[in-house]
Amino acid sequence: MQKTMLVDTSKCTACRACQVACKQWNQLPAEQTEFTNSLENPANFSPVTWTKIVFGEEKNDNGRVFWPFSKQGCMHCTDAACIKVCPANAISRTDLGTVYIDESRCIGCNYCAANCTYNVIGFDRVANVARKCTFCYDRITNGEIPACVKTCPTGALQYGDRNEMVALANKSLQQLRAKGNDKANIYGLEELDGLGVLYVLESNPATYGLPENPKIRLSTHIWDIIFKPVRVLVVAAAFFALWMNRGDSKKQDSA
Ligand code: SF4
Ligand code: SF4
Ligand code: SF4
Repeated sequence: MQKTMLVDTSKCTACRACQVACKQWNQLPAEQTEFTNSLENPANFSPVTWTKIVFGEEKNDNGRVFWPFSKQGCMHCTDAACIKVCPANAISRTDLGTVYIDESRCIGCNYCAANCTYNVIGFDRVANVARKCTFCYDRITNGEIPACVKTCPTGALQYGDRNEMVALANKSLQQLRAKGNDKANIYGLEELDGLGVLYVLESNPATYGLPENPKIRLSTHIWDIIFKPVRVLVVAAAFFALWMNRGDSKKQDSA
């Protein structure tokens, strides 16, 4: 069953309660940040920042400033570059349609972070694993809704079956159009064969820092086609090499 999150930016106040709830539920520590002439903080996703409010700025035709912001993180793409490149099969699609990193299988190659279409994967150099939003898999498989959705005070975040979320998004879009907003649109219906996070946007995706026509790089496809059939062998060879090196080190230590 495909589960989806709806982010309705027309209802978001940028309070960042979702950002805090994600940290709290997933026990992610705070990190030192710097002022970057923007309210966006921290500036980047990291192993301990899985979701954040992205701020933009746009001048309307009438010269007035429009201040767009949106909650962003892993989009749980249907056509997911991270799944394609992972040589250890550590990233997979769950039974609820979300994209999940199994840290116990991650070998720390960092390919997923380098290839993610939305640049949302953080790499933990100490633990040597990749981390990102789990869609609160531990919650949604126990009948709970994601922590960020649960905490959102304005109803900007919703979670449920995909068809329900699409219907909510269309309803909000019609309301925005009825108010005269011709730029309003839904993002995530077609992009990468459908995103697990749908957006109601009040302006063009680029205004929110979202790619207008996201595509998986050709090099990622080539990697997937050529490497996939042999990746188990390559991973096994890498582990064998590590094991041999460890054996050599022990011999040197005892010599
Ligand atoms: S909690 Fe809701 S209103 Fe507040 S920033 Fe997040 S999405 Fe926006
Ligand atoms: S946003 Fe990045 S990490 Fe999330 S599913 Fe898409 S490619 Fe993978
Ligand atoms: S779904 Fe869970 S892990 Fe993902 S952003 Fe929301 S709170 Fe964080």
